[in-house]
Amino acid sequence: MVSRVIPVDEFDLVIFGATGDLANRKILPGLYRRVLAGQIPQGSQIIGAARSDMDAEAFRAQVRGAIEEHVNPAKIVPESVAEFLAMLDYVVIDAKGEGGWDDLKAKVRPDVINAFYFSVAPSLFGDLAERLHKRGIAGPDARIVVEKPFGRDLTSAKALNKALADHFDETQIYRIDHYLGKETVQNLMAVRFANILFEPLWNAQYVDHVQITVAETVGVGGRGSYYDKSGAMRDMVQNHMMQLLCLIAMEPPYHFDPDAVRDEKLKVIRALQSVAPNDMVRGQYLAKGDEPGYLADSEDPESKTESYIALKCHIANWRWTGTPFYLRTGKRLRARTSEIAITFKEPPHSIFDEAEGDWRENVLVIRLQPNEGMNLKMMIKEPGPGGMRLVQVPLDMSFAEALGEEADITDAYERLIMDVIRGNQTLFMRGDEVEAAWAWTDPIIEGWEARGDRPQPYDSGTSGPDDALMLMHRDGRRWREIRE
Ligand code: NAP
Repeated sequence: MVSRVIPVDEFDLVIFGATGDLANRKILPGLYRRVLAGQIPQGSQIIGAARSDMDAEAFRAQVRGAIEEHVNPAKIVPESVAEFLAMLDYVVIDAKGEGGWDDLKAKVRPDVINAFYFSVAPSLFGDLAERLHKRGIAGPDARIVVEKPFGRDLTSAKALNKALADHFDETQIYRIDHYLGKETVQNLMAVRFANILFEPLWNAQYVDHVQITVAETVGVGGRGSYYDKSGAMRDMVQNHMMQLLCLIAMEPPYHFDPDAVRDEKLKVIRALQSVAPNDMVRGQYLAKGDEPGYLADSEDPESKTESYIALKCHIANWRWTGTPFYLRTGKRLRARTSEIAITFKEPPHSIFDEAEGDWRENVLVIRLQPNEGMNLKMMIKEPGPGGMRLVQVPLDMSFAEALGEEADITDAYERLIMDVIRGNQTLFMRGDEVEAAWAWTDPIIEGWEARGDRPQPYDSGTSGPDDALMLMHRDGRRWREIRE
């Protein structure tokens, strides 16, 4: 397959927090890969900004190191690295201070696309927005990119929205949820709305239930004190999993247009019912071998923060009433995998005898990682003599195999940054969406806090707490196995 890379227009991108982990692991290597792909025009500038005192040369050396560490060696082409490094510049700026801003203003060209990436703690968003606006560095056409976490509850999310809205219009704000930049997540929309095949069946009449799983093998070691204030509900469910749920459940937008898509997602969030306490299970991983348990990782031996959560959600609208959505996510689980599984109902009447095979429902599995792809489990006749015996087989499509190289080279971050440059907000969360998601999340968290619920311990390397299995068993269903 021929790769189609559409170059973007010339831009100046300022990355606040350019010395940080995210910039070095994801943003800068991603931008390099876009240069390698020929997508970034040569005159563009990428300006790092942080408090660390260094000049542009030292910043280039840092970025060279980041590329060597985080880019596949086969993709490190000296000419492209040199081309990329030549685009880099650096300004020393403290978001809360007054120095460096004139320097930045002198570098940012108003006659090209301007984007400002806030890869810093959210507590600095307001300071950056105010200074960029008041000093006339970011004008009405500039784009502001902000990282998660976007608040830790509705009140703080509203405060962040206001801190940005005081200086910029909503059409300028790009709230990153990198899950939305994943190839398969976007494919979810293509599968649903570019094919006639599934949409007629995409409702409670034909879909028995939906499972969304985001399983990690790592614990929270290293970032325990941060995670302990967050937990799986805030860290994963309120944002990434909610976005996946929206893309599965939303009505077809009238057009693939940012607000049309986001309007439909918002309706799903608003239609989400509150979750009853017995429809959710929270867990905390235990130590395994040399690896500490959650309580040691979090450094609070009394912590009630969950490293695992499973819940059953209902969407109260005409399409979905009667189809439960089961969500689960956790750390230190058996395998690292993210997938969405849509289980269809059985045919209303079987013309085959039970003895004629191991009857199973059709399941459409969308794998987000690893090995992005799709798999449709179908019943067919078992080949060979022996009469009409049925067997379930997968119609399996790995995007890497189907699409070749193009399928695996574009990381979510680089795709989203290119969308920012193109001015396309479709894959970014709108302020009202984020607030609606917190409005659903808050009472659930407040409920377990008020009850003083303790998460259930679970063994590392398993599928999570036993009660999570019961959450489905009692409905006569079962979770899919967690495996790579
Ligand atoms: P980090 O490694 O701690 O980096 C923070 C960056 O902010 C550094 O470059 C730091 O540079 C800069 N900074 C701190 N205080 C500053 C100030 N007063 N003025 C200007 N710059 C300042 O954090 P990170 O992991 O890169 O995360 C950045 C943001 O992305 C956070 O909001 C985080 O929640 C979010 N995020 C990170 C990841 C990830 O994988 N790392 C994933 C999702 C979201 P100096 O010390 O040189 O100023």
